[in-house]
Amino acid sequence: MNLILLGCPGSGKGTQAKNLKENYPLLHLATGDIFREAIRKKTDLGQKVAEYVHAGKLVPDALVLEVVRTRLQTHSGGFLLDGFPRTLEQAQGLDTFLSSRGKHLDWVFYLDLSQAQIIQRLSNRRYCSGCQAVYNLLTRPSASVGSCDLCGGKLTLREDDQPETIRKRLMVYQDLTEPLISYYKANESFLRIDAMETVENIFERIRAILGNRIVQDADQAG
Ligand code: AMP
Repeated sequence: MNLILLGCPGSGKGTQAKNLKENYPLLHLATGDIFREAIRKKTDLGQKVAEYVHAGKLVPDALVLEVVRTRLQTHSGGFLLDGFPRTLEQAQGLDTFLSSRGKHLDWVFYLDLSQAQIIQRLSNRRYCSGCQAVYNLLTRPSASVGSCDLCGGKLTLREDDQPETIRKRLMVYQDLTEPLISYYKANESFLRIDAMETVENIFERIRAILGNRIVQDADQAG
């Protein structure tokens, strides 16, 4: 199964990706996580992308595509893309890459959230500086204020979740990523999900669909 989680920053892609990973054998590729780790470890990639990530701008398509293709090239099973593609050029690059390898996308799940909700979620989001666990001051607070329930690390606001950068990221999303909704809608395996639903309800909807898909595959094989 090859899946994409599409949605604005803060729509809950990371949370659903975690649920999916725990329940299905999928390679999870979250380009934002890959870039943040590279920046933390000060790798060559980290040095190339830091300026873009910190400013809330998109990393150039060619570089993102290279990162994704390199990871998918050596992987034979299903995958889950989270935060990629983010531009039409990335989507087309992905299509070309997949068809060259005789693969295709099975589902695009689009988590839809209003702009007011996006700003509220992102400005209340906190990350653990130790294990990168994600919290939200309003909807998913840690048990003890300011520290991670899992490792005790300090909770911080991501540099690109500062109000000014959030505004920039939203403009970038509207200009460059929203066109992907029409691009993938033309594809029958597209599902819009209201991102205001609970985490559990959203996952149940996804699971119901993937469950059917597995049954259909088994029927066709039989
Ligand atoms: P995210 O964690 O998905 O919100 O990504 C954080 C930042 O990483 C973004 O604001 C971009 O600077 C960069 N980034 C992540 N994924 C992509 C992508 N597919 N294309 C371009 N830039 C990306």
